[in-house]
Amino acid sequence: MEQKVVKPYHLFNHQGRWYAINIEEMCTCSIDEKTAGALTAITADPDAPIEPLMEEQLDKLGLLSIEEEQNPKAKPGKYKEPVPVVNMTLLLTQSCNLKCVYCYGDGGKYGAGGMMEESTAFQAVDWMLEQSGKIKKLYIGFFGGEPFLNFPLMKAVVEYAEKRVQEMDKQVVSHTTTNATLLDDEKIVFIKEHQIQVMISFDGPQEIQDAQRPYVNGAGTYDSTVPKIRKLLAVLPEAPGHAVILGNTDPQYIKNALQEIGFEQISVMPVSQSLFQGKPGNPNSDRDTRVLLQALEEEAETWMRLARNRDREALKSFTDKSQLYQGLIALLHNTKRRHACGAGLGLAGVSCTGDIYLCHRFVGQDEYKLGSVFAQGLNREKYQKSPTTGNGKCTACFARYYCAGGCKHDNAGSCGSISEPSEDMCRLRCRELELAATIIGRLEDEDKAFLVEQQIFPPKPCPLDF
Ligand code: SF4
Ligand code: SF4
Repeated sequence: MEQKVVKPYHLFNHQGRWYAINIEEMCTCSIDEKTAGALTAITADPDAPIEPLMEEQLDKLGLLSIEEEQNPKAKPGKYKEPVPVVNMTLLLTQSCNLKCVYCYGDGGKYGAGGMMEESTAFQAVDWMLEQSGKIKKLYIGFFGGEPFLNFPLMKAVVEYAEKRVQEMDKQVVSHTTTNATLLDDEKIVFIKEHQIQVMISFDGPQEIQDAQRPYVNGAGTYDSTVPKIRKLLAVLPEAPGHAVILGNTDPQYIKNALQEIGFEQISVMPVSQSLFQGKPGNPNSDRDTRVLLQALEEEAETWMRLARNRDREALKSFTDKSQLYQGLIALLHNTKRRHACGAGLGLAGVSCTGDIYLCHRFVGQDEYKLGSVFAQGLNREKYQKSPTTGNGKCTACFARYYCAGGCKHDNAGSCGSISEPSEDMCRLRCRELELAATIIGRLEDEDKAFLVEQQIFPPKPCPLDF
């Protein structure tokens, strides 16, 4: 007789209501107390027979499967070699005009300091073109230090890459992250002309920006930088603003300040520990996620209020700042991530001297060096396995297909290993998914229909679309 088993799930209670997340299928619903009780009993004794009525309920939730059933759609956790490199970030300069208190790049020097030569940058472009194989669309990022300190090289690389991709019938998208202090008319015209995607790192209100991100001489950066940001946003309104949060600063306070400057797209992240500052988890990182957790709870309530009030405009602008949106879409579209990012896969960080690292943040750390743009081969085999199957803590985590192991740099900084996430980050990621599930569980069908109709929630893609 076929034996039915309960698939992996996560059960939790929020404000007196029960929710279940089907971990493997990445879907969710709210459930009644009796079903929640039955699930708890089954967890305590997986061999106990499942009552027929309960079996029906669990089947409806997609939580039952035939024992040892093999999922024909299951994808292996490891990519087949070689993964083409399609996104390369060049450190145009390993120096900076700011002295941010939390800099994870050793004052922007990433150990050695220096400026990239044109010959190295062009070699890097040629190297990626070769590495990218048949992939047509490539990405080149400019980073530092402050990348606009080497604006002549940025211009030369953009133009060289555009010419080379044309010769090879490919496309290139350029992107950069800047502190915005050096933006001027010439740079803004160049950005616009070459459609460079720009992310501005800016920490928010004046007292916080000036304290956390002063110039090297200690002077504040807020007053001199905000007009430059506004000038950029006037021609590129979609340029996102990204802020780093220290201690228990309220993320909403930061988001409001960025919104006032004019950013439509805003993200905030708790500070990461620098790998250049000795021991992992250095208490100087001063990371406190309690306020961030509280902000997530409030955000879930805001989603419910705006959806029920059919507040289209507020929802649209809220989506651009939402920490829960990614979880909402993942659960609605049943999306499973197997890697948190492309570090060690399709992504590479290149130092001023042409050395290749796991990603731009690891530049200068020998342990994470994968090769050189002047040599053949990349030493990255060990990074190809998905944390969802290859890492004890993540493999057992209910949020594994949402978070997929977290940022490797953050893990290395806080716990000393790229595959060992910190408890505070895990708490945040897990709660994000839980709260996204509570929103989906509480929304009525007509609320969801409204959100799809207004394109707040994109419709689930057709599985036959490529
Ligand atoms: S929340 Fe933590 S344990 Fe879970 S997948 Fe993310 S990093 Fe891994
Ligand atoms: S390891 Fe972290 S910093 Fe590097 S690409 Fe991945 S998410 Fe970004």
